[in-house]
Amino acid sequence: MYSSHSHRNPLCPTIAYDVCVFGAGPAGIAAAMRLAAKGLSAVLLERPMQRKPWGGESFTGAIRTPLQALGCWEQFERAGHRCVYERQSAWGSEPHVESSIFRMDGPTWHVDREKFDEDLRSAALARDIPLISCRGLNGITRESDSWHLALDEEISLQCRPTPRKRR
Ligand SMILES: Cc1cc2nc3c(=O)[nH]c(=O)nc-3n(C[C@H](O)[C@H](O)[C@H](O)COP(=O)(O)OP(=O)(O)OC[C@H]3O[C@@H](n4cnc5c(N)ncnc54)[C@H](O)[C@@H]3O)c2cc1C
Repeated sequence: MYSSHSHRNPLCPTIAYDVCVFGAGPAGIAAAMRLAAKGLSAVLLERPMQRKPWGGESFTGAIRTPLQALGCWEQFERAGHRCVYERQSAWGSEPHVESSIFRMDGPTWHVDREKFDEDLRSAALARDIPLISCRGLNGITRESDSWHLALDEEISLQCRPTPRKRR
């Protein structure tokens, strides 16, 4: 999908993108970064941040493969997340103990999820993927060979369903 976005501010230039990605969580950011790696430009559209306490998450060692594919693994290792070699879980029974020695994909990570998201957003911005804060999609209309996305009062997007040629 080709798109261009323009702010109502006439001093803000119109920029063309191939793909609009709604949601700048890990999935959206990964999609935008993979598209960028394939030579397609993407823009990330995210709701205004609602800060809420996030207790952290645990990732299996399988997180390494997708982060390596995105070129974010070294940043993840340096981010201060805790690497652990045994985990226990209990679901109304005796704790189930699992050692990373028996896992092909390596140790578990206790992750500061806010820091993880922040680092992914930084990595996307470093690859020239813009992140636009918008409250929501107000409407989509077809205009000859393009789509017009009304996001909120300041921002609109112009999108064409045919991707331009890869660089
Ligand atoms: C309480 C809890 C604990 C969890 N613990 C773990 C764990 O320990 N380990 C683990 O691996 N996983 C865990 N998960 C799951 C993990 O958080 C999700 O799998 C992961 O966040 C999914 O990433 P995502 O990018 O698909 O979605 P999200 O992280 O939810 O990101 C989606 C983004 O899209 C934005 N968005 C949505 N709609 C729109 C819209 N219309 N316009 C613009 N932006 C929009 C949202 O604001 C959000 O930022 C947990 C989830 C919860 C709720």
